[in-house]
Amino acid sequence: MSRRRVLVAGAAGRMGERLCALLAEHPELELGTALERPGHAALGRELAPGVRLTESAVDAMASVAVAIVFANPAGSLELTRLAAKQGVPCVIGTTGFRPDEKKEIEALASRIPIVLAANFSVAVNVFFHLAREAGRLLGDGFDAEIVELHHAAKIDAPSGTALRIAEAIAEGRGTGRDRSFVLAREGETGARPAGSIGVLALRGGDNPGEHTALFLGHGERLELIHRSATRDHFARGALRAATWVLQHPPGLYDMEHVIGLRPA
Ligand code: NAD
Repeated sequence: MSRRRVLVAGAAGRMGERLCALLAEHPELELGTALERPGHAALGRELAPGVRLTESAVDAMASVAVAIVFANPAGSLELTRLAAKQGVPCVIGTTGFRPDEKKEIEALASRIPIVLAANFSVAVNVFFHLAREAGRLLGDGFDAEIVELHHAAKIDAPSGTALRIAEAIAEGRGTGRDRSFVLAREGETGARPAGSIGVLALRGGDNPGEHTALFLGHGERLELIHRSATRDHFARGALRAATWVLQHPPGLYDMEHVIGLRPA
């Protein structure tokens, strides 16, 4: 069996480092190219035999079967444009895209298969499913609030995962996100708007990510909690998505498709 060459973008970052390390668990894949932003101090470092950290995205994309991108939104979008031009399927883990950037990724997915997920953990995707069901089954009598905690270096808030949990609850309730999400509270806020979903972000330390969804009723509450102790389950999920995306036609997918919670 010939191994499929993988491009890892953001390869010297926290996620990139784990992706390169855990590629060893996939005999069908190999590190083809490791990409970093121009000027990065680690450029030229050998990450696997014969694979040095490079800044040359055009050359990098030309020689791989699939790209895995955990970088910043602008760089990730640029790489996805390049991948679409060269017909390379993509797995995108970067969070913090603006709505217009997400729209462009959606458009690029008409040319290549793309798995875009705010969270590649299998357990977190089951969390989305449970949150959707809780939204559907608990109905109007329960207020939904989401609290997330991440390491001090995270640059976007609230987390993409917290927003995805809120979307799942809204989907379950049959309501849209625009009217109902409350991302900050300060001063005289007035009473909580009925049907709203609060999303609050805590930052500090080195925590890779914790999410709690609270469904607050009268005299009772339901909590769903996911806690990450390392980043490895995100990396393992992204590598599973890379194998999956190679077998699918152009289109925009998420991790719920990859693990079979939604039909592809
Ligand atoms: P990080 O800052 O440690 O790593 C990002 C790396 O990308 C850096 O090394 C940076 O130099 C590099 N980079 C920036 N622009 C680039 C470009 N144009 N080309 C190539 N490389 C470039 O961050 P991290 O903790 O690894 O997270 C990266 C992203 O992944 C963030 O958006 C984070 O929120 C997200 N994330 C997603 C998941 C998930 O499961 N979807 C899990 C963890 C983190």
